[in-house]
Amino acid sequence: MILCTFDIGGTTIKYGIVTQLGEVIIKSQMDTEARYGGGAIINKIIEKTKELKNHYDIDGIAISSAGQIDNKEGKVIFATNTIPNYTGTPIKEILEQQLGLPVTVENDVNCTALGEYWQGAGKNAEEFIALTLGTGIGGAIVIDGKIYSGAYFSAGEFGHMNLYPDGLRCPCGNKGCYEMYASSKALANKIKKVYGEEVDTFDVFRLAKEGNISANEMIDGWVQDMALGLQSIVHIFNPGLIIIGGGISEQGNFLLEKIQWQLKKIIMPPFKEKLSIKMAVKGNEANLLGAAYYFINQMN
Ligand SMILES: [Zn+2]
Repeated sequence: MILCTFDIGGTTIKYGIVTQLGEVIIKSQMDTEARYGGGAIINKIIEKTKELKNHYDIDGIAISSAGQIDNKEGKVIFATNTIPNYTGTPIKEILEQQLGLPVTVENDVNCTALGEYWQGAGKNAEEFIALTLGTGIGGAIVIDGKIYSGAYFSAGEFGHMNLYPDGLRCPCGNKGCYEMYASSKALANKIKKVYGEEVDTFDVFRLAKEGNISANEMIDGWVQDMALGLQSIVHIFNPGLIIIGGGISEQGNFLLEKIQWQLKKIIMPPFKEKLSIKMAVKGNEANLLGAAYYFINQMN
């Protein structure tokens, strides 16, 4: 089986050809140009699929998308203003009509989790929690190798757990949400405040690894907030594995050890027993793989 896969995000649409064995034959990306709205994104996908159909014998289209997705109908049930007029888009219906191929659509963080489960850090782990740190914090709950979606496709919004009731205002309308403190963007904002524009997250990690005290303090403060959220997640789910994804996972063991150390101080003893925390390993391929894995499972 050969699948054409897309990962729709606020700034880029990644795409690739993925086989049923989990090989990514080609991958590339194009600008989302989100300002033109949901309809324009669908047109881009139609054009790109037509182009790829000339070179590959495509059996279906597997889509990973930002926003809350009704994966039964293949429809966007809610998306923020990052992509205007995206809420309500019946992706599956339009693409199946226009391209005559079966289509599945699943939320991007759920696809990250499924991609890591199929080919990455979650291999052989039937139950785990995945968090992706980026502009916000996304979450996915995997039980028996499947996504737990909740009553209306929205479970796992760990980014909006309340950390500080009178804290920073979150785009969701509440105050003090987890992602305002523990996302990659939250760290980048802290860095900008202290070091100014010319220093970025990568520089601060490099300094910290070299032993710089203030860089380590900066990262430790951020990890402390991250651990507070993980504390609740661990006490609720008693997971055997937590996978942390997003660009920050490139920081590997250096960051992992900090998270483990801070988290183990604040969780009850039985919860430490089987808990392992891993960084995601499939990087920006995870969502394409996860979309393909979801497609394959739906068709079987
Ligand atoms: Zn929020």
